[in-house]
Amino acid sequence: MYDIIIIGAGPAGLTAAIYACRAEKRTLVLEAKSYGGQIINTPDIANYPVAPGISGFEFATTLYHQAKDLGAEIRFEKVVGVEDGAVKIVRTPQNTYEAKAVILATGAENRKLGVDGEAELTGRGVSYCATCDGNFFRKKDVAVAGGGNTAVEDALYLADLANKVYLIHRRDAFRADAAMVSKLKEKENVQLVLNSTVTKLVAETRLKAVEVTDKVSGKVTTLPVQGLFVAVGQVPENENFKALVELDAGGYAVAGENCHTKTPGIFVAGDNRTKEVRQLVTAASDGAVAATEAIRFLNN
Ligand SMILES: Cc1cc2nc3c(=O)[nH]c(=O)nc-3n(C[C@H](O)[C@H](O)[C@H](O)COP(=O)(O)OP(=O)(O)OC[C@H]3O[C@@H](n4cnc5c(N)ncnc54)[C@H](O)[C@@H]3O)c2cc1C
Repeated sequence: MYDIIIIGAGPAGLTAAIYACRAEKRTLVLEAKSYGGQIINTPDIANYPVAPGISGFEFATTLYHQAKDLGAEIRFEKVVGVEDGAVKIVRTPQNTYEAKAVILATGAENRKLGVDGEAELTGRGVSYCATCDGNFFRKKDVAVAGGGNTAVEDALYLADLANKVYLIHRRDAFRADAAMVSKLKEKENVQLVLNSTVTKLVAETRLKAVEVTDKVSGKVTTLPVQGLFVAVGQVPENENFKALVELDAGGYAVAGENCHTKTPGIFVAGDNRTKEVRQLVTAASDGAVAATEAIRFLNN
């Protein structure tokens, strides 16, 4: 039996593994895809303390080896269910594992626009994170796609960096807070492109422009932009655990800063948790907190 099973080998899960192993807890990390989580998709991390310019792959690989060298067992199996009890049962299609405590660090996936070339141009003009990548587009022209709080926040953030920001939204009104929308409308370099969707990405090696189609008139317009920030929502990976954790309307596991869930011995860390800022630094921080709370749970 393991002391702690951590589900997900992203920044939150691997950081939790470091803390669990340093407390000499027998630790298993189960990962559905490859280690590193979402960050593996970015060529350049500019905002993680002490490691400016490190690539997502290098960040993930260093973190993976740090956890492994400290004694974490890491297996590549997707967890399909967890059962509660004095002993927690963790199931994958290949195996059934037992643990005294479980940390859910399954992260989230950015919802895609679904336009041809989107995957290939990610990191070459297409981004899902204005806070992470906005700085690469200083004084350039960019677009944001989306109509919720994140899209409007991203447009406001980018307006202070970029030359021009187009905010493309498929409806004629925003779901975002009215106060934020008013603030956005005051920005001289922001142009709202409403009732419109992105229908084509124009690129050579990098993004050069986006084509948008007006849903009412059918008119197609080309916006010459070097960056497209997609902010159409995230899908947290909590579906398999909803019997054990409370989920909010967006599907995020409800937990406070102590990473506790409604089930004793089940903790949640990282982007799949309710929180304001979803970044590496907060994922790592959650990993540390969740592991420390799991260790306290075991010792009690
Ligand atoms: C393109 C891009 C660029 C980014 N750039 C930056 C940046 O520059 N700076 C910054 O601070 N943040 C950046 N971020 C955000 C950052 O990557 C995330 O906040 C961070 O990775 C969250 O870590 P996490 O461990 O909570 O989740 P994730 O990174 O999502 O990792 C979760 C892991 O759990 C696994 N998993 C899911 N379900 C299961 C299951 N059922 N069984 C087993 N494993 C499972 C997934 O495969 C994944 O590997 C970026 C994100 C993206 C997409």
